[in-house]
Amino acid sequence: MTVPASSRRRFLITAVSATLGTTLVTACGTDRAAPQAEPPITTGEEALRRLKEGNERFAADHGLHSDEGTERRVAVSKAQHPFATVLGCVDSRVPIELVFDRGLGDLVVVRSAGGVLDQSVTGSLEFGIAELGTPLLVVLGHQRCGALDATIKAVDAKHSEAEGEIGYLVEALSPAVRQVSGSTGDRLANAVHANVGLVLAQLRKSTVIGPLEKAGKVKLVGAYYELDTGKVLFN
Ligand SMILES: [Zn+2]
Repeated sequence: MTVPASSRRRFLITAVSATLGTTLVTACGTDRAAPQAEPPITTGEEALRRLKEGNERFAADHGLHSDEGTERRVAVSKAQHPFATVLGCVDSRVPIELVFDRGLGDLVVVRSAGGVLDQSVTGSLEFGIAELGTPLLVVLGHQRCGALDATIKAVDAKHSEAEGEIGYLVEALSPAVRQVSGSTGDRLANAVHANVGLVLAQLRKSTVIGPLEKAGKVKLVGAYYELDTGKVLFN
């Protein structure tokens, strides 16, 4: 997606000043007047409850898969009302829509290895919140995260042998590993939890997300997905 400078300026202006629900989407070319079977969600608490209910269905193998199929696809084809923005890992075992039993038009999902933030990731999260108007942002870590496991090994070896830009990921995840050095318990799980906290702290410094959280327009929540149980544990 190439965003012209004029659109970017407009995006930044609206992102900072707009009240949620009145902002027109510019970069993705949609408006927010979509029909929706479920009642629209306006608060972070309601959005969180819907995610928790979806994950309970998923973990119990009782997924509804209700927002899939032709009818839903047509219903959201002209506009969208996603109710949560989620940052997750690229891990193939943690597909965000599946673990929350949600479908088309429900979630703004951004994924990077270990949930590492860079300009694109942060900008995409800002877009989900400020432009698409989701009242909830979830940062989702997960059990046995390979990205953090590799970072632990690199920190222990005092260097990374990662090639290409993977070294960038290891460097970005290193503070979480260092933060939990000396802690008791599962070192990898501790690092994942620490990383979720550090990512949330970084996102609160965003000039878009921070003010919206302070104004009560968006709720920020950390969470941990257990591969073993299928359950998402919210902080
Ligand atoms: Zn991972």
